[in-house]
Amino acid sequence: MENVVIIGSGCAGSAAAVYTARADLAPVVFEGMEPGGQLTTTSVIENYPGFIDGIDGFELMDRMKKQSERFGARFRMEAVEKLERKDGGFAITLVGGEEVLARSVIVASGARARYLGLPGEMDLVGHGLSACATCDGAFFRDRRVVVVGGGDSAMEEALFLTRYAREVVIAHRRDTLRASKIMADRARANPKITFEWNTRVAEIKSEGGTVTGVVFEDTRTGERRDHPCEGLFMAIGHIPNTAFLPEGLLPLDKDGYIRVNGVVTDVAGLFVAGDVADRHYQQAVTAAGEGCKAALEVEAYLAQMGL
Ligand code: NAP
Repeated sequence: MENVVIIGSGCAGSAAAVYTARADLAPVVFEGMEPGGQLTTTSVIENYPGFIDGIDGFELMDRMKKQSERFGARFRMEAVEKLERKDGGFAITLVGGEEVLARSVIVASGARARYLGLPGEMDLVGHGLSACATCDGAFFRDRRVVVVGGGDSAMEEALFLTRYAREVVIAHRRDTLRASKIMADRARANPKITFEWNTRVAEIKSEGGTVTGVVFEDTRTGERRDHPCEGLFMAIGHIPNTAFLPEGLLPLDKDGYIRVNGVVTDVAGLFVAGDVADRHYQQAVTAAGEGCKAALEVEAYLAQMGL
């Protein structure tokens, strides 16, 4: 039986791995569908303390992984299908069927990009539709792109896309941004970026399975108009990754975020960290901090079991 299994390898899971590995607990980290988590799909991280000129998101996560491996963490590129209580501990069933037993578990499975839910939308992912400018932006050199959303992610995606695209339109459903002032100011100052206020994407147009445009709808009047574009980027928030949790094991809120005060749950040996339980802050540094707290709680829990 493993001492501790960490579900997720983003900032929260990786920081938990550093701490539990350094405590000699030989953690097993199931990396999930997006190894390294959401930071691997962003560009430069400017607000993670300690990096004067910022740091590339992928590099930051790679460093955390290697740091924890140095102390004995074991990363496995597998996704978890089910988490259950078993024999006073937990059974973790992987996609593929393998079962791993653990005395304690840190759920740090994060969140994934939200899409609009329009008909046929998911068929267009990778064919003009994306939720990751750093992954796909280079395909849109000299093209017209639309970014949906009004938060920091939308500003960041739009700014990144100006490196390649001819024009970047940010379509936001209200007339005020949710984004922080610094990000909003940067987007407003960029000559390639324009805003469509009070605008939602009502339809995605495609030809031959590739995005050719969108239909904008004015959220006040309902008036619709075609807007041709080759790229459409979603930046409308996230959905927590909790599908592997059996109903009733942990309380979830209406959007699926785990409801917990801190990192300690009501289930002995089960801890949570990062975006999967954080609908408010969602920062790399807060996730890492929670990963640290969860790891210290695991250490205390196992010590009290005499381990
Ligand atoms: P967010 O702050 O929740 O913003 C989501 C945006 O999408 C909002 O403007 C929202 O509109 C819009 N939206 C949501 N559902 C929609 C729908 N169905 N149709 C159209 N629009 C929809 O999410 P985020 O931008 O991903 O940021 C998440 C967190 O990460 C925040 O705390 C943010 O500060 C942080 N973050 C920071 C940075 C940075 O500092 N560089 C970069 C990225 C993210 P409304 O405004 O009308 O609700």
